[in-house]
Amino acid sequence: MKKIKNNELTAAPSTMRAMVMEVPGQPLKEKKLPIPAPTGKQVLVKIIACGVCRTDLHIMDSELNQPKLPLIPGHEIVGTVVQLGSNVEKLKVGDLVGIPWLGFACGYCKYCRREQENLCENALFTGYTMDGGYAEYTVAFEDFCFILPSIYGNPSGAPLLCAGLIGYRSYTMAGPNAEKIGLYGFGAAAHILIQVALHQGKEIYAFTRDGDIDSQKFAKKLGATWAGDSTITPSAPLDAAIIFAPVGSLVPKALKDLDKGGSVVCGGIHMSDIPSFPYQLLWEERMVRSVANLTRKDGLEFIALAAQVPVKTETTLFPLEKANEALAAVRDGQVQGAVVLVM
Ligand SMILES: [Zn+2]
Ligand SMILES: [Zn+2]
Repeated sequence: MKKIKNNELTAAPSTMRAMVMEVPGQPLKEKKLPIPAPTGKQVLVKIIACGVCRTDLHIMDSELNQPKLPLIPGHEIVGTVVQLGSNVEKLKVGDLVGIPWLGFACGYCKYCRREQENLCENALFTGYTMDGGYAEYTVAFEDFCFILPSIYGNPSGAPLLCAGLIGYRSYTMAGPNAEKIGLYGFGAAAHILIQVALHQGKEIYAFTRDGDIDSQKFAKKLGATWAGDSTITPSAPLDAAIIFAPVGSLVPKALKDLDKGGSVVCGGIHMSDIPSFPYQLLWEERMVRSVANLTRKDGLEFIALAAQVPVKTETTLFPLEKANEALAAVRDGQVQGAVVLVM
């Protein structure tokens, strides 16, 4: 009989499964890779689940340039800290954490110094310029992980980390006076944001792809005042319009739907071209703006608020190795709520 050495019994696994983008435009490949070692301020996280975001498609379609290659995508990570780098001060082994899109900001560039770390010149992004969560393990900088409440220590927590967070940042940009808010594109972000907005007494108007009755029903079920095709004029003028669909022609349409002084907030990282429109649509102090990335302040505020509501996410789960199918589901927009990979 083979004698088993003590360290063979206790040794952590040394390899992990991961779905890897080797070349943009091609399907992800399942690989067995060494588990990364956390250095300095990094922690090693055993991943429970990772959300699939439209941004992952923009990266794979080369609509976002210069990703790390090869790349493990994924920036909506829920997991448990299992190992600490030598300079980790706050997190402990066993902590439940969420890892978002903003993986690192420098703290000293002009943007970081004026509380706009979302615009940091030296930022690193999870699942884009550093490896992300389509894997069994990942490393992350402790200062950019969020401690999660235990109710989100499962796949339902994953969509909060981008869909929820970016949705929330977009919502705050609409301003505290916005009462009637239009959400254009009723997917992962909108289904979370509607819960937060209703909790704060807002009215939600949900716009979907033309004829997408299922999404309109889903929005009504979640409490939308009005739901309809994105080409239709809503039942009341809006104080704010938040566009999640990557469709530039929605910008002039949303401006048409706005009341005086209202704003259009574009929540996506990529959008098709915005057609020209008459100045009349912008007149009377209407605004158009984008939202880029997130700050840690957004994350802390949003996660506390989500737990208080409490936000419940609707998820469609895929096993890790079915990441390509999961991405196709996001592309088709045929699932309600969010798509999440489980490890
Ligand atoms: Zn995202
Ligand atoms: Zn910076």
